[in-house]
Amino acid sequence: MMMRVNDDVRHVVILGGGSAGWLTAALLAREHHAGEPDGLAVTLIESPNTPPIGVGEGTWPSMRDTLRRIGFSETTLVRECDASFKQGSLFRGWMRGRAAVEGDQYRHPFTLPMGFGDVDLVAGWLQRHGDRPFAEVVSAQPHVCMAGHAPKQFATPEFAAVANYGYHFDAGKFGVQLREHAVAHLHVRHVLDDVDQVLSHDDGDIAALRTRRHGDIAGDLFIDCSGMASVLLGQHYGVGVRSCKHLLFNDTALALQVPYPAADTPIACETIATAQPAGWTWDIGLHDRRGVGHVYSSAHTSHEEAERQLLAHVRATGGSGELPAPRRIAFEPGWRERSWHRNCIAVGLSAGFVEPLEASALALVELSAATISDEMPATRAEMALVEKRFNDAFAYRWERVVDFLKLHYALSRRDDTDYWRAHRERATLPDRLADLLTLWRHRAPYRQDFFRIEEVFPAASYQYVAHGMGLLPEPSARTRHPSLGEAAEPYFRETAHLARRMLGALPLQRSLIDHIRAHGLPRG
Ligand SMILES: Cc1cc2nc3c(=O)[nH]c(=O)nc-3n(C[C@H](O)[C@H](O)[C@H](O)COP(=O)(O)OP(=O)(O)OC[C@H]3O[C@@H](n4cnc5c(N)ncnc54)[C@H](O)[C@@H]3O)c2cc1C
Repeated sequence: MMMRVNDDVRHVVILGGGSAGWLTAALLAREHHAGEPDGLAVTLIESPNTPPIGVGEGTWPSMRDTLRRIGFSETTLVRECDASFKQGSLFRGWMRGRAAVEGDQYRHPFTLPMGFGDVDLVAGWLQRHGDRPFAEVVSAQPHVCMAGHAPKQFATPEFAAVANYGYHFDAGKFGVQLREHAVAHLHVRHVLDDVDQVLSHDDGDIAALRTRRHGDIAGDLFIDCSGMASVLLGQHYGVGVRSCKHLLFNDTALALQVPYPAADTPIACETIATAQPAGWTWDIGLHDRRGVGHVYSSAHTSHEEAERQLLAHVRATGGSGELPAPRRIAFEPGWRERSWHRNCIAVGLSAGFVEPLEASALALVELSAATISDEMPATRAEMALVEKRFNDAFAYRWERVVDFLKLHYALSRRDDTDYWRAHRERATLPDRLADLLTLWRHRAPYRQDFFRIEEVFPAASYQYVAHGMGLLPEPSARTRHPSLGEAAEPYFRETAHLARRMLGALPLQRSLIDHIRAHGLPRG
């Protein structure tokens, strides 16, 4: 037991040096003036023996804000982390399991449909353009992606966009660059050591972390970014995991890096998610390689069969030559019953992980770090209130992540394996999603279905996926009225016009990446 000296929150200690630890450290240090006389002190402890997980290569557009907030340069991201621009996801084979057959694919672009919220685009699409993919009628971005164009021009400043975008990058290199930035520019103290023991105050708060070579590191607030080990929240406090394996079955991933056949191979603009008999493969294009993986349910297929399918996917998509054995990663889909307990908050894998579909994990890290920074309690006395708000907000967000991911499986008509059939059984549907799916038989997902201010997935994302997967609301008295089609038509025309203009103005993704690597981007 240790004595508490005073009540102020002056020193934050972060355990773990993966993407979660460094993003959180950088944000807190930058926004709470670490290194200045009255600033917050931020220490990050990272084991020299346990490397970060090193996967997690797809981000949301929110990463642009996060990087801007911590003062990290986009040019550095492209040059040092092999980053490319991600404009959304392309799903193949999710509806009927025939990825090769034209038509069994749809897109979830990052840009909102033009006119979203102003008119009923779904009714207009069904009345007049139902023979074309929804996303291609309501958004210019699928056209940009299909043609392989970048979301910005050579002269567009860092983080500014012509079309909305996030990133694909090398996760290992990203961690290294974040560390260098946080230590060199943001005054984060970096301790390379193993934590073996947690020391407590007599009220149960964490007082200090005992390291092997640097002694006891005391702090006021502790952030657990120790990955799946969840050393503080899980092991020390015993906060359990709320499993969602009965809703989302995937629990294993195989990851592989695949070189391009030629230096000028086009770089894909989207994460390509191809459905497999018991899971799906991701395919991510970086500057000089692809990141490819297979995430699957070990209850529905063997590891050998999953590896065979991954390699078949790689060969079918241009991967050739000797390939290394894929790396296997097991995970328990779910999240901790609470993320904040006493003076300890879990961020990243230590708080939970569902599966990589739609790449929500780093987005939740960003949201967690931003919330902690925005709501940083000044004293221990305020902490319980902030803890309650945080836990409430993130319990809601984890549930919405599960709803949205499950939507991709629940609407599939694949009938070829138990895996896909089981995904449609009522017992495997979250209740809220089951209710919404009933409502969406007669109307499209819309804003009031997702009413919180910072929803993880907006109604527009639900529309892209639901209508992409073939959910076509039955017309009702309101939606069959021709005035809705008339009202939507100008937006569809403007979208088509914008797509043509963008194709004329935007460079190819590889040209832009090569240009940035050679010349950089103008600072914003
Ligand atoms: C297969 C797969 C694919 C994914 N794809 C995506 C994606 O496309 N997009 C996305 O957003 N996310 C993705 N994720 C999630 C993403 O990888 C993580 O959210 C992200 O990397 C953050 O990890 P982390 O920092 O929480 O943990 P880790 O990277 O595991 O870091 C843990 C850190 O804790 C340290 N540590 C642990 N114990 C101790 C100790 N006792 N003492 C000292 N240090 C300790 C380790 O040294 C390490 O530095 C994916 C995850 C998986 C499994």
